[in-house]
Amino acid sequence: MLKRSCFLLLFSVFLTSCSTQKIPSLPIEKSAESLPNFVIIFTDDLGYGDLSCFGNPTIKTPHLDRMAEEGQKWTQFYVADPVCTPSRAGLLTGRYPIRNGMSSSKRAVLFPDSAGGLPSEEVTIAEVLKQKNYATAAIGKWHLGHLPQHLPRTQGFDSYLGIPYSNDMDLINEPYVSYHNKAQKNPDYLANTNNYNVPLLQNETEIERPCNQNTYTRRITEKSVDFIKAHKDQPFFLYFAHNQPHIPLFAHADFIGSSKRGLYGDVLHELDWSVGQILQTLRDLQLDKNTIVVFSSDNGPWLSFQTHGGSAGPLRAGKGTTFEGGQRVPTIIWGPGQVIPGVVHEIGSTLDLMKTFATLSGTEIPKDRKMDSYDLSPLLLGHSTASPRTKFYYWTRGALHAVRSGKWKLHVLQREPIDYWKEDLLLDHPELYNLEADISEKYDQFEANPDKVAELQALLKAHELDVADRLPDNLEKRIVVDE
Ligand code: MG
Repeated sequence: MLKRSCFLLLFSVFLTSCSTQKIPSLPIEKSAESLPNFVIIFTDDLGYGDLSCFGNPTIKTPHLDRMAEEGQKWTQFYVADPVCTPSRAGLLTGRYPIRNGMSSSKRAVLFPDSAGGLPSEEVTIAEVLKQKNYATAAIGKWHLGHLPQHLPRTQGFDSYLGIPYSNDMDLINEPYVSYHNKAQKNPDYLANTNNYNVPLLQNETEIERPCNQNTYTRRITEKSVDFIKAHKDQPFFLYFAHNQPHIPLFAHADFIGSSKRGLYGDVLHELDWSVGQILQTLRDLQLDKNTIVVFSSDNGPWLSFQTHGGSAGPLRAGKGTTFEGGQRVPTIIWGPGQVIPGVVHEIGSTLDLMKTFATLSGTEIPKDRKMDSYDLSPLLLGHSTASPRTKFYYWTRGALHAVRSGKWKLHVLQREPIDYWKEDLLLDHPELYNLEADISEKYDQFEANPDKVAELQALLKAHELDVADRLPDNLEKRIVVDE
C-alpha cells in the first residue's frame, strides 16, 4: 500500500505539472499500481435544478456541493436518451442505443415481462477495463435485462446487487398504467414499499422480495463502501446506480422530514449523504488522488408526478422528452489532484465516459463497430479547454428528434408534455433554438436562419444513414407464458 501511495503521489505531481504547463499528455504505460479507479454514481430521474450547486434553493446537498467545488461541474452534459433503459445502454457502451436495439418505437424501456436486454455482443465499460484486470461491481439499478443472461455478470461485472429494473414495477393488485394515472393526481398514492413487489438480486439470485425500499438506498451505499474497501489495493470500477429519486419515493427514516422540499427533498438529502459516504471512504483510504468519480442522472425529472418529480430548473420539459430538461443532466466529475476544478460549459455526454476511462486507464475501446464516445480526459486534466464533442443527437423511442451543433439545436420531432402514452408530435416545420441565448427553448429561430436549418437538417440526414446498420429491437421482446 505504501508503495502504491508513493507512486500515486509521483503520478499526481506529474499530472499537475502537465496541467500547469499545458504540455500535451504522453502515452503512459500504466502499471497496475498507477491505474486510476473509476466510480460512476448514477441517480434516477434527478433534474437539472435539484442540487444546491445547480441552483436549488430548498434542497441541501453539501456533499455534492463540495464535490463540485473540488471537481468539475459540467453544465451541458447529456444522456443518450431521456428514459432509463436506453440511457443506461448508452452510458455503458459508448454507443447511441439505437445502434444496439436498446431504443424502440414499441416500448420505451424494459419491463418485468421483457425477454430482451443489452445484447451480449455489446462491449461495456466494465469489459473494456477488464483488459487491465479491474475489479468491477454493479450496485443498484440495472435495467438492461433482468433475466440471468442479461444481468451484470454477463457484461463484465464481477458482482451485482440491486433492483434489476425500475422501483415502480411489479405492482401488487394494480395495473401499471392505472397506477401511473392515479399517482399523477395524487403522488402519495400507494406510498407503502410493500405495494411494489420488486426483487433485490444478489448476482442472479433473489434475496429479498419485495425489496424494502425504505432502507434500500442506505444498504446499497454500505455495500458500495464495502466494495471500495475490499479492493483498495487493486484498480476498480464501481457502477453505483441508485433507483431514487424515481417514483415511488422512499427514504430512510433518518431523512424523513429533513427537507423543506417534502419527500422528494428528503430523498435527495439521503442521496447526498450517500455521495458523502463514497467520497469520504476514498479520502480515508487515500484513494481520492487516484480515483475519478462521476455523478450524474439517467434522464431529467418526471414532471407529471407533481411534487414527487424533480425540477429541470431553467430547462424546458423533463423526462421522456428531447427538450433540454429531458436529456441535459446535472453532472460533476471529481478527482482531486487529477481533475482540474472548475465549471465546464462545453458539451459532454455519458456516451463519452467509455472513451475517457479507456484513455485514462490505457485500455482500448472496441474498433470493430461504430462508437459515439469522445475522450474528455484532456478537459479533465487541464490539457484542453475545448470539448471534442461539438454535436449531439437526441433520440427517443427509436426516433431521431433533434440535433445540436454548437449553440444551435434543431427539432424535427417533439414529445411534450411528458406522457409515456402519447405519440410524438409531428411539427409543421422544424424548430430552431439558440441554446446560448435561449436555454429554455422558447423562441423558435426557424424563419430567421434558413441556412442554419439546412445545415442541421443535413446533419440529421447523415446521422440517420450512419445508424442504418443497427441491431434488431431488443426492448419489444416479451417473455412467452405457456397457457
Ligand atoms: Mg430514469
